[in-house]
Amino acid sequence: MVKAHSLSAPAAQITPFCKKLEAPLSKRSIRVLQINLGRRCNLSCSHCHVEAGPHRSEELSVKVCDQLIQLIQRFPQIETIDLTGGAPEMNYGFRPLVEAASAAGKTVIVRSNLTVFFEPGYEDLPAYFAQYGLRVVASLPCYLAENVDKMRGQGVFDASVRALQQLNTLGYGRDPALSLDLVYNPPVPTSTDFSLTPDQQQLQQSYKAFLQEHFGVVFNQLLTITNLPIGRTKFHLQHRQLHRPYLAFLEQNYNPGTVEYLMCRDELSIDYLGNIYDCDFNQMEGLPARSPEGEPITVAKLLAANRLDLIDQVQTAAYCYGCTAGSGSSCGGSLT
Ligand code: SF4
Ligand code: SF4
Repeated sequence: MVKAHSLSAPAAQITPFCKKLEAPLSKRSIRVLQINLGRRCNLSCSHCHVEAGPHRSEELSVKVCDQLIQLIQRFPQIETIDLTGGAPEMNYGFRPLVEAASAAGKTVIVRSNLTVFFEPGYEDLPAYFAQYGLRVVASLPCYLAENVDKMRGQGVFDASVRALQQLNTLGYGRDPALSLDLVYNPPVPTSTDFSLTPDQQQLQQSYKAFLQEHFGVVFNQLLTITNLPIGRTKFHLQHRQLHRPYLAFLEQNYNPGTVEYLMCRDELSIDYLGNIYDCDFNQMEGLPARSPEGEPITVAKLLAANRLDLIDQVQTAAYCYGCTAGSGSSCGGSLT
């Protein structure tokens, strides 16, 4: 793990991210739709940037779901539908979107917290995932029970392992058509002794060895994702007066080689109301994507324009340093 020089408060000024870039962050042709179906989740993890939980009720409407299905069916340039939440499986629209996207030949990703398999009414999910060949991206922030339970709640590690075993029994992690990736999130910093996210390949080896040896669990790839200072993470950092020092640490470790690969360049992130953002982080911070005329964009506007590529430039903010520090970070793991 790469350790940083400690930073003592008050932190240095943060350079605006857009000034750090050599050129404005241009949008490319859209290949990925990441759809956030809503805030409902059976867990309430300490690092959750969505601030999801069992008592949240915001979710996709029938109208927006229908518009999204039209989008999926109309644009062959969309290769991947990435379903997230909350627990996407618990929010309206999950199954209609899976089935429409599969019928249209898209790759479908479900970002699952795994423990949802044991909620009443959701027991058929593993078989459903396999039936539609969904690519499962499952959060498991550590391979040690104590750390997972501290971040996600008591008993979450054991439930996650049982869920992974169910998926393995169905062929996930073994059959090339049934891909199972795990996601590592570092713990939220509690002091100025910040660290960069560990090396993805090395950590993957440790995860694979431990999970295979102790639980017989196999998976394909480990994706390491940096904690961006937004949502609950920002709240925890601010509470300890670490928000600016953490941003300064991320800026110190800015790696221009990651910019080429940032996920926001070829994806649209869509909220449960049908509003469009350049990425899920901007969605959570309420920073909408804009047309060259400065207009916010919605799913309805894309359908009316009959075009997906309405955005020239990605909207950026200081937390973008989280995606560009060290090896970089995205919903698909490290970037370089
Ligand atoms: S499982 Fe995911 S969406 Fe649910 S509270 Fe935890 S981090 Fe948030
Ligand atoms: S937070 Fe990351 S993915 Fe989102 S706009 Fe910034 S750099 Fe791009």
